Amino acid sequence: MQISTISFDGDMTLWDFLKVMRHSLEQTLAELQRQVPTQRALELTVEKMVAIRDQLAQEMKGEIWSLLEIRRRAFERTLEHVGHPDKDLAAHLNTVYRKHRYGDIELYPDVIPTFDALAPHFKLGLLSNGNTYPERCGLEGRFAFVVFSQDVQVEKPDPKIFQITAERAGCELSQMLHVGDSLKNDVAGAKNVGAPSIWLNREGIPNDTKIQPDYEIKSLTEIPTIVGLDNL
Ligand SMILES: [Mg+2]
Repeated sequence: MQISTISFDGDMTLWDFLKVMRHSLEQTLAELQRQVPTQRALELTVEKMVAIRDQLAQEMKGEIWSLLEIRRRAFERTLEHVGHPDKDLAAHLNTVYRKHRYGDIELYPDVIPTFDALAPHFKLGLLSNGNTYPERCGLEGRFAFVVFSQDVQVEKPDPKIFQITAERAGCELSQMLHVGDSLKNDVAGAKNVGAPSIWLNREGIPNDTKIQPDYEIKSLTEIPTIVGLDNL
């Protein structure tokens, strides 16, 4: 394997996005209920807030790329849902959400040791469909290249975003090893453009798809061995 470059997915690969997202929504819901102490607001749940946001994202697909804008609009719609439309309050809730969403994010414990081991030998990058930029999660200066779908307006598993990534990395796709937790977005996406891939399967779930990664790992600390470095 002639690997010069390793691109990493972000959400659920380097940090637990679902955990920080739900935690941030819990804090925002508490604030909403403080500000709007009505029965309908008290009946609101994090699950419902997630559903409202996902529905909105679906409606806006290809139209609005900014995930922050979708989130802000989702709070407006959430307030409409509880019978209290209020754009200023939605903006305030958005601020509360963002404070926790970025302030409380934690990297998985295997990230830094793995990056420390790989960085002297490989060009490392981030390829994400999310919106956690390196400086928002303690990874500033760790990446030689960064590609976010909301900025290039194409998302994984589209071949174009992998091509953009290899261009920014200055390598051939066959030299770029992509690591991610999604069989569809990361593994199949990489495979379609001839890039080798590692499926990060932290929970050891069965692969009931036809998508075959080149490697499957439970921890990022397995990567150095795969690319020919000694164990951590
Ligand atoms: Mg992911």
